[in-house]
Amino acid sequence: MTATDTVRPLTAAELAAVRADFPLLGRTVRGGRPLVYLDSAATSQKPNVVLEAEVDFYEQRNAAVHRGAHQVAEEATAAFEDARSAVASFVGAADDEIVWTPGATAAINLVAYALGNATAGRGGADAERFRLAPGDEIVVTEAEHHANLVPWQELCARTGAVLRWFGVDDDGRLDLSDVGSVITERTRVVAFGHVSNVTGAVAPVETLVAAAREVGAYTVLDACQSVPHLPVDLHALGVDFAAFSAHKMLGPTGVGALYGRRELLEALPPVTTGGSMVEVVTMTETTYMPPPQRFEAGTQMVAQAVGMGVAAQWLDELGMGRVAAHEREIAAELLKITEIPGIRVIGPSDDRDRIGVVSFVVDGVHAHDVSQVLDDRGIAVRVGHHCAQPLHRRFGVAATARASASVYTGVEDVVAFREALAGVRAFFGAE
Ligand code: PMP
Repeated sequence: MTATDTVRPLTAAELAAVRADFPLLGRTVRGGRPLVYLDSAATSQKPNVVLEAEVDFYEQRNAAVHRGAHQVAEEATAAFEDARSAVASFVGAADDEIVWTPGATAAINLVAYALGNATAGRGGADAERFRLAPGDEIVVTEAEHHANLVPWQELCARTGAVLRWFGVDDDGRLDLSDVGSVITERTRVVAFGHVSNVTGAVAPVETLVAAAREVGAYTVLDACQSVPHLPVDLHALGVDFAAFSAHKMLGPTGVGALYGRRELLEALPPVTTGGSMVEVVTMTETTYMPPPQRFEAGTQMVAQAVGMGVAAQWLDELGMGRVAAHEREIAAELLKITEIPGIRVIGPSDDRDRIGVVSFVVDGVHAHDVSQVLDDRGIAVRVGHHCAQPLHRRFGVAATARASASVYTGVEDVVAFREALAGVRAFFGAE
């Protein structure tokens, strides 16, 4: 990425070429209307190269990885490991710091369960650093996706640790006005989302990492909504662990990654045990392979991992600076819905430090009814609590509608969305 990449958004011709690469964007819905897909925060669409990579893997390279003594197995292993390298370099990590998981949820649970195993005495002397005791504290935020909240609640229940959290302000940003009273000498883990899947707000990673480091706490970054939309360099951010999913970054479902700093993964006990992650097994004892294999028991999702690698390369070639610049323009277009009477955005209404994820309520109309009217016009948005019930409770709403962008989203998509949204209240007689 060059300096100009960070400022030059996609031209109309480049965007058209990008869109042509995504077959699903060409389909129609609801009686022949062109699809306006504004649900990329839930899952992104996939470019041809990703679809082709999976087919090519099955057609030409399908074999068990890491144990074949034949050519196809060698090629399968090379494709699997090359994909790991592509994903690692995409997020500024070393190859052996990337563990394949079925997704971000599984990655966060992996860390939480590994810490629980360490607390139960597994992993020997190396893992003692991870032990939690009653009264230790785990810090999260009120803005978390359930995937980065419930595993920590469960870990607290298993270990006697206490959950604490940062609240959010009226603009949907983390309230860090008193960092030092939440992150204290008792804090052992600070787990937070890089970008909220509801408000689109980018968290001040630097502040939280600095506060955690000062007290020797481990940081766990939920990077699900940042990796697909912003340049992310995990080494530069200085987090200890991070989780993200392929399906939100133009890759296949069923695969994601856990990043862990090498020395931490080396000391962490395994969670899922079985084949492919062991060195010596006797009837009573087993020794484990080094990371990342220690955390990859059983047959892996090889074709999907290959697809994730190709997705990372596709984004890398376009340049994440340019992706971010394009999506910033789309975010600004989305935020113009605040000009429509009766629309309230849940989250920052300015486009500073936020991405193109905009959740909103329509005065007097239930979110599900909003989405139905939009769907009738071929516009796909998400409704519900978006797996963030505490955040919705904070804003006194049970559900919001959410429009979210990706690299392939065009201004025309947003214009169609705004026009349809402007008519929703009249449609329900709520004006
Ligand atoms: N964290 C955030 C912020 C998310 O948006 C999501 C997906 N909605 C997840 C975690 C969970 O990701 P997955 O379902 O791919 O495991």
